[in-house]
Amino acid sequence: MQQLVFATNNRHKLEEVAAKIEGKIKFLSLDDIGCSDEIAETGLTFRENASIKSHYIFEKYRLNCFGDDSGLEIEALKGEPGVYSARYAGTHGDHEANITKVLRQLGGVDNRRARFVTVISLIWNGGEHFFEGAVEGTIRYERSGAKGFGYDPVFQPDGYSITFAEMTMEEKNAISHRGRAVEKLVEFLKSI
Ligand code: IMP
Repeated sequence: MQQLVFATNNRHKLEEVAAKIEGKIKFLSLDDIGCSDEIAETGLTFRENASIKSHYIFEKYRLNCFGDDSGLEIEALKGEPGVYSARYAGTHGDHEANITKVLRQLGGVDNRRARFVTVISLIWNGGEHFFEGAVEGTIRYERSGAKGFGYDPVFQPDGYSITFAEMTMEEKNAISHRGRAVEKLVEFLKSI
């Protein structure tokens, strides 16, 4: 069976992809290949960061692999927090503080347009392929819902009256940026 490394240690992300293409490819995490290196996300775009991760693994281990990068782009904030989504308020992964900062920055701003974006960089037999997914929506004035993570409590996708944090994981995955990018990756992997 072909092997494919997902440059992540997030089990949940790995299983989400693996479940969609069960049997055909064996997915490995960074843990599985014995890699505990911190891969610095120094890129200025999601594409660059995804590519940094996949290239790092490919150069070091010579294995087929992919990396992903996601974030929130708010129109009125000129695309911020963008690649800084995880550390917008300073501390990596402090989602509460990140949301508070977004709501403060948008204080008195009527344009609430925003989108979540995911870019996946796959290195397969030496060639690089990109897969992108996005979901458009608006930033609420207040938090709502307790599911999900990150900015989910303030992001309302277009066509819905609830936030990502009020959706089940299945509902969110069906329309989310990550779900859409993963869908494209899976289609590609099924075709080879
Ligand atoms: P990552 O590249 O998937 O680790 O995402 C980087 C950051 O973007 C996360 O730490 C969150 O702040 C934000 N983010 C990405 N995807 C989502 C999502 O589906 N919901 C809420 N926040 C997200």
